[in-house]
Amino acid sequence: MTDKYKPKHIPSIKGTKDILPDEARKWQKVEASAKRIFELYGYREIRTPVFEATELFEKGTGETSDIVIKEMYTFTDKGGRSLTLRPEYTPSVVRAIIENRLNLKPQPMRFYFMGPMFRYDKPQKGRYRQFHQIDIEVFGEEDPAIDAEIVQMADFFLKNLKVKDTKIVVNSVGCKECRPSYLKKLKAAAEKEKRRLCENCRRKMATNPLRIFDCKIEGCRDTAKNFPKITDSLCVECETHFHQFCSFLDLFGITYEIDPRLVRGIDYYTKTTFEIVTSKLGAQDAILGGGRYDEMMKDFGGPDICGIGFAMGMERLLDIVPGEEDKQEFVYVVCMGEEAKGAGMKLAKRMREAGRETLIEYRERSLKNQMARANKLEASWVLIVGEDEVKRGKYQLKNMKSGEQIEEAEENILKIIRDKSF
Ligand SMILES: [Zn+2]
Ligand SMILES: [Zn+2]
Repeated sequence: MTDKYKPKHIPSIKGTKDILPDEARKWQKVEASAKRIFELYGYREIRTPVFEATELFEKGTGETSDIVIKEMYTFTDKGGRSLTLRPEYTPSVVRAIIENRLNLKPQPMRFYFMGPMFRYDKPQKGRYRQFHQIDIEVFGEEDPAIDAEIVQMADFFLKNLKVKDTKIVVNSVGCKECRPSYLKKLKAAAEKEKRRLCENCRRKMATNPLRIFDCKIEGCRDTAKNFPKITDSLCVECETHFHQFCSFLDLFGITYEIDPRLVRGIDYYTKTTFEIVTSKLGAQDAILGGGRYDEMMKDFGGPDICGIGFAMGMERLLDIVPGEEDKQEFVYVVCMGEEAKGAGMKLAKRMREAGRETLIEYRERSLKNQMARANKLEASWVLIVGEDEVKRGKYQLKNMKSGEQIEEAEENILKIIRDKSF
């Protein structure tokens, strides 16, 4: 036999991760909660393909967002087309709206989405090449009331998951009318303090000085504290929008902080930006970030419709959602002998049909071993089906928590288990 035919293990790809059944329950909980809460606010799910034309994302991230472009998972398919696994979600939604003319339909354009994203980044702890996001997007609502409603919804979602120690940070990054003059002021201030900025920031100074505020280096952060604030340079329209946004947050009773340095990493933002940060992830890390992008749809060759949304990383969120052990209650059916096996299978079928999770295993084991197994799996109840029980039409039901055991006929057993009355 040559090496070629020798069975061998093929490992997973660097930067990817299996989500095993134990963790998957928590994923499902977070996803179900997102779905339920977003739908309460009139959002509907949208699912777009995992890959798109490379151009779409090059455009979506803006010309200066070389970080995203550099990290894109791009490949050439068999037809010679350049395709990219989506590195972010918004460009795909915008494309889908334009392509399916969703803006001409009567439904509100409020979408939510959850799924994998891909970045060809150097894998490091907690960062994967395939990672997951939950996003929401609203199109066609200019009123700052929606900006506040979105922040309130995000806050409600996190509270619902019992995430604690969060802080809401908001800002306005202006618009194409007022940003250019601010950027000039910012550039001039950065130029003056050039010697105190890192090499990276000095480079950003020319291309996109707003990014200096994203720098994690202490010295740069300190220096940037004294730079002009964008909130002092807003035009009347942006200023009014921001003011109303804040007063709507007050209306909802939301506590927030205004941080003029919150500019977010992506170029297409206009007016509102916000983040929800937590102290639990170390140094004030963002769990969720979002903002308004009023020019985006037009830039994609679509109608002139404004947009706003937020995104959060699932992996990060799961780290701070409490309650890893959300054990589901279930019945373990113990069968002794061939005849009992048939009866047990039928009972299991009926319990499942009645909506109760039931596990029956077919490997032959002694009564003692089956009981030990049920105990190990943390079954809530054990239903014992022996030949004798089958003959009498009565079964033993054991509550594994209290240790109590009763004998009941099939109908009663079903009722007891359904109502969890034992
Ligand atoms: Zn403006
Ligand atoms: Zn820096």
